[in-house]
Amino acid sequence: MTKHDVFRFLEEPREMPGKVPLQLRTAGDWNELYGNFEQRTAAHQADRCLDCGNPYCEAKCPVHNYIPNWLKLVQEGRILEAAALCHETNPLPEMCGRVCPQDRLCEGACTLDDGFGAVTIGAIEKYIVDTAFARGWRPDLSRVQPTGHRVAVVGAGPAGLACADRLVRAGIAATVFDRYEQIGGLMQFGIPSFKLDKAVIAKRREVLEGMGVQFRLGVEIGKDVAMDALLADHDAVFLGTGAYRYTDGGLPGQDLPGVLPALPFLVQNGRIVTGGDTWGRPIAGWEDTLKLPELRGRHVVVLGGGDTGMDCVRSAVRLGAASVTCAYRRDEANMPGSAREVANAREEGVRFLFNRQPLEIEAGDDGTTAGVRVVQTRLGEPDANGRRSAVPVEGGESRIEADVVIIAFGFSPTLPEWLVEHGIESHPNGRIRVGGERRLPYQTAHPKLFAGGDAVRGADLVVTAVQEGRDAAASIARMLRRVTGEPRSALDAA
Ligand SMILES: Cc1cc2nc3c(=O)[nH]c(=O)nc-3n(C[C@H](O)[C@H](O)[C@H](O)COP(=O)(O)OP(=O)(O)OC[C@H]3O[C@@H](n4cnc5c(N)ncnc54)[C@H](O)[C@@H]3O)c2cc1C
Ligand code: SF4
Repeated sequence: MTKHDVFRFLEEPREMPGKVPLQLRTAGDWNELYGNFEQRTAAHQADRCLDCGNPYCEAKCPVHNYIPNWLKLVQEGRILEAAALCHETNPLPEMCGRVCPQDRLCEGACTLDDGFGAVTIGAIEKYIVDTAFARGWRPDLSRVQPTGHRVAVVGAGPAGLACADRLVRAGIAATVFDRYEQIGGLMQFGIPSFKLDKAVIAKRREVLEGMGVQFRLGVEIGKDVAMDALLADHDAVFLGTGAYRYTDGGLPGQDLPGVLPALPFLVQNGRIVTGGDTWGRPIAGWEDTLKLPELRGRHVVVLGGGDTGMDCVRSAVRLGAASVTCAYRRDEANMPGSAREVANAREEGVRFLFNRQPLEIEAGDDGTTAGVRVVQTRLGEPDANGRRSAVPVEGGESRIEADVVIIAFGFSPTLPEWLVEHGIESHPNGRIRVGGERRLPYQTAHPKLFAGGDAVRGADLVVTAVQEGRDAAASIARMLRRVTGEPRSALDAA
């Protein structure tokens, strides 16, 4: 066994894997930004873990990964065991290692984050799984006993995939339906390839299919297949349908030529980058194929400071914009986007204007977009969610030049009629109601219907969708056991 040097962090600084050189990125390189660790670097970085005894990193990780344990396995070069341990808590560890805002989650809670630089937990998680897959490792389901139960999963995003993974591990047949031709949900068609290479999603599909998960893609529930039919054919249904209602902000001038909603912009762009129409269907809500305006040589302003906004600014850089500005109404500390992505955007030349609230998108003489009128803000009292509000400062108006404006104010879920008909209830903001008295966690008002991910939480993160899909599968397994009176052992693995 390799000896652990508890003071390794003093001589070994925090190190991230190498990045694509800046000049390539600004010249239009769409490859994943971060490379992978070499085994030696991964082991050294893992060895920086203090094993402090109070793994706050685990507590702060939404899926409660066994972080210090798999760091130790990496330090000892036991990568396949580390991969198996990663999958015990996280059905999609290679995705989370890439896209989690680690600075707000595991790494932000690392004891070394104060002064020494947190352990590079996300990059090591990615290293473990990529390396194990490359060596041919696959989850071991050899001891799984089929139960004869069948569950339909609606939505092949992280919530649906995580749910399907846990169901098949519990011996429950899982069929995942998605209206698009590819799996992954927003990981596939929202998050750009410089954050998450689409080959990673294809690999996960191969792994899930190898585990027995069935996919029926290009099938929209409520349109191509009725909910009644799904319920008749399955013992339970999981809804991981995401959040797609676009928040437009109601800005005067938002219908001008040159103003784009963020998601269609990213999707269209993703199509171009991956070399064609990978979806088979238009994006729901934006049935007219969006024609991307030319961004090369143009002044682009992105309104909004979340992950979507960061993906838009960095895509605009790669598309050759003359200038890219992000205007956000609160200050940097209150920005929802990951600090790592903000730093990468800055490095790529994006200008940030904090404490600026948009008032109007202005037209030029030719009737197209010419600028954004904004007002300076200061931070006021916390709102109902504990976030400090942005209060306009009198006389603080100014104008930002813009040929193209991308609106990235966020998304919320909507409850489709075909779910209302089945007694499913929602909160006023469209989030599906789950749990509560006499219901299992993630169970809706219909006993056979469960839900999780953005459809339940509102637009959030890949890792929280994974956690909800995983935990909903455990509830489904419990429900099926209660119905059939089966012994605990067969289904409790979920
Ligand atoms: C641009 C952008 C960047 C982001 N960046 C990050 C990031 O860096 N890190 C991070 O953690 N999170 C990020 N997120 C958020 C993250 O992608 C989502 O929180 C997560 O994907 C939600 O997972 P989900 O499974 O609930 O829903 P989704 O990923 O939205 O998947 C839902 C799936 O359900 C399918 N579906 C819906 N209705 C039907 C139907 N009736 N029939 C069949 N299929 C249906 C959809 O086609 C879709 O594939 C980002 C989001 C966006 C938009
Ligand atoms: S799943 Fe996300 S929060 Fe948890 S350890 Fe991995 S990167 Fe960190």
